[in-house]
Amino acid sequence: METYDENKPGIWAAFHYTSEYSNGSASGAQKNGVIHIDHQQLDTEIDKSGRLDGKATVSFVSRAPGLRVVPFELFRMLRVSSVTGPSGEALNFIQEDKNEDPQFWVVLPRALGKGENYQITVKYAGKDAISAEGAGNYYPIARTSWYPNSATGDFGEYTKYDMTFRIPKGMSIAATGTCLSESNDGGRHNLTVWSSDPITVAGFNFGAFKKEDGKVTKPPMDVASYANINPPSWVDLVKQSDAGDPMAGLTGSHMSSNCASGSMNTTILNKKALSEAQYALAVFSEYFGPLPYKQLAMTQQTANNYGQSWPMLVYLPITYLFDETTRHCLGYPDTTAYFSIVAPHEVAHQWWGHDVGFNSYLDQWMSEGFAEMSASLYIQFVYAKEPQHYSKFWSDELKLLTERNKEGYRAIDAGPLTMGYRLSNSRQGFGITRSLIYPKDAYILQMLRMMMYDRQSGDQRFKDTMRDFVSTYSGQAATTEDFKATVEKHMTAGMDLEGNHKMDWFFNEYVYGTQLPNYKFEYSFDPGPAGEFVLNMKLNQAAVSPDFRMLVPIYLELANGQIVRLGSARPSGNMTVEQKVPLKGISEKPRRAMINYYFDVLATSN
Ligand SMILES: [Zn+2]
Repeated sequence: METYDENKPGIWAAFHYTSEYSNGSASGAQKNGVIHIDHQQLDTEIDKSGRLDGKATVSFVSRAPGLRVVPFELFRMLRVSSVTGPSGEALNFIQEDKNEDPQFWVVLPRALGKGENYQITVKYAGKDAISAEGAGNYYPIARTSWYPNSATGDFGEYTKYDMTFRIPKGMSIAATGTCLSESNDGGRHNLTVWSSDPITVAGFNFGAFKKEDGKVTKPPMDVASYANINPPSWVDLVKQSDAGDPMAGLTGSHMSSNCASGSMNTTILNKKALSEAQYALAVFSEYFGPLPYKQLAMTQQTANNYGQSWPMLVYLPITYLFDETTRHCLGYPDTTAYFSIVAPHEVAHQWWGHDVGFNSYLDQWMSEGFAEMSASLYIQFVYAKEPQHYSKFWSDELKLLTERNKEGYRAIDAGPLTMGYRLSNSRQGFGITRSLIYPKDAYILQMLRMMMYDRQSGDQRFKDTMRDFVSTYSGQAATTEDFKATVEKHMTAGMDLEGNHKMDWFFNEYVYGTQLPNYKFEYSFDPGPAGEFVLNMKLNQAAVSPDFRMLVPIYLELANGQIVRLGSARPSGNMTVEQKVPLKGISEKPRRAMINYYFDVLATSN
């Protein structure tokens, strides 16, 4: 249900059918598309101007009884010239004017039964699906709809792709899948052939790229990074302009008068993209298990303000590849923190969103938040000697959740994570979902990690949980409830706060709920009778419902500066836990006691 009042746009309510609630099929795992596409053969030619000519042979199975008309997602500027059936017979299709009602539907010659297979071949062509940005830079605009895709719009369907690309000669291309061959097509084009096992989406990036090759040994993967030799024309426009910043999405920027000093050559930092990808793949493979993919391409895109991840293919913002002088000179605000996590965040989407897919908006928090939390692991290990980067990461995340936006709302209060982008609306602000799901879910995974942490085995239990989740749901969509079940399989006895081997308490509070506890921690150390110190501590939990429970780890900083985890307090409701803890074997007075030292609990404190 949407509202049509032009001042109050938003999705205000959405429900399953009554019958789905009563027969138990009301679930985020429900497949709403009328077809599942098994296989796509995509033959694509792109000319110097960015015009795309495509032929797609689409094999699909009907999910609905009596299916007669099939919707596809196809970029409105790609105009269909013909649709044919399995024997080459012409089929009717609908694609009205690009500015009016351009959705593409195919009319089948007869109704298909549920589970029946069919194959169509679609020819289409047009400009503007890819934008030519000058000097051998191309920007793929239609990321999910440059071919007739299933019209579900989510990464919960897996399709096998075989693809050929003809691009202008002298250019190179990176695409989803394994490159089987590359030739020059009689000197006219660069012709490449690609194949992949079933994946969530197909895509490509091409241009006058310079390529750097690398490897990861454990597990073995080929990694490559691609950057353009020359910047796109908008960079020159910005350099010459003194009328402010024409780039969208970046505010408060300021043009300095002399931009000649910064290097525009993004190929210099191309090695950085490569090494960040190699390091991220190594860390994430250790924590989440190996990917089913044998290669990954990190590619430069001309967009300056976002990164994106497709299976085996990452799009990095061009700004990531500028040095700091250039960024400053082009008027970018200080967003160092963003540039340090964009590559690992996008690499992590290889696991979260692609290897493990998500069927609907109900589960999208896992894709974005798990990728964000993965970036924190990367930061933790890369900056092991400068832990302030890790602290800054988590305090920035807390700030995003608890700062009021211009509409006056805090993201943390907006609604449950599982509401996803439905929480964005004119009342709470359209940016609120972004400010909620990335940091809150990152915290949720971090909280589970810290609950599972063990002094002897470190993160082993957390790694086992995540590896189990990935290997169980590899190549398919997972739901919030699937993840909860995996956590319950691996939870410690200490996490069983309700004594029922369930994590309902935690998921109800933080995933399906909007609670944010506040903690006040006071302590002192007294010498004990046997010469060992005793910790007197008082932990107050407030601003929660009476049944809110939490495990709150307590840390000590010993006299020698070492940090040790003492154990966890278990407050329930609005209360104060008061305890005297004898510190066995500690005969020198500790420097201090702390809670939340490793950002263990999403909470405020005073
Ligand atoms: Zn993301």
